[in-house]
Amino acid sequence: MYICIEGIDGAGKSLQVKLLSEKLKKCGYKVIQIKEPTDSEIGKLIRKLLRKEVNNALMTLLFAADRIILSEKIKKLLKKGYLVISDRCLWSSFVYQSIDIGEDWVEEVNKYALKPDITIFLDVDVDVAMKRCEKKEIFENSSYLNKARRKYLQLAKKHNFIIIDANNDIKTVHNEILKVIAAKIQK
Ligand code: C5P
Repeated sequence: MYICIEGIDGAGKSLQVKLLSEKLKKCGYKVIQIKEPTDSEIGKLIRKLLRKEVNNALMTLLFAADRIILSEKIKKLLKKGYLVISDRCLWSSFVYQSIDIGEDWVEEVNKYALKPDITIFLDVDVDVAMKRCEKKEIFENSSYLNKARRKYLQLAKKHNFIIIDANNDIKTVHNEILKVIAAKIQK
């Protein structure tokens, strides 16, 4: 099963991916934790470019390329019975890259990317997210985060994401995620 955790910056994705992976490993599952962008050469280039003002069409193509390589790896892991838990997936491109180039083209170039079986959207209020980012000295723009959150909520409706209130404390959010995943993997 391919599980993706999505959300705006400050939602707590990375920590929750880690906690979920650790818990499922303890329960005896074979688990692989992944992240987008990846550590591939393309992923490294993306990280460099994220800090600069780069054309969104170019970023869309780079993310899609990075994701195609990753999708092939995920398919192999799924065949071997792994639970693959990802911090971000193609939905992040639908949110961030589609902002000025539209969703249709983002969808088209991502048509070879694997879609997760379950997407959990950690929904956090923008002011809470901003405070969490400030603590980590990451300075985000609230109107940008608001735009991204609205886009996530649209996608959540269209693609049946599971929405979890990420304003709560770490343990509460972890337990909520666990409840959802346990119900899915025990089916
Ligand atoms: O997930 P992480 O915090 O490492 O993401 C770093 C930045 O990359 C985020 O601020 C996010 O806005 C951006 N990003 C993006 N497009 C994606 C994925 C992430 O612009 N597809």
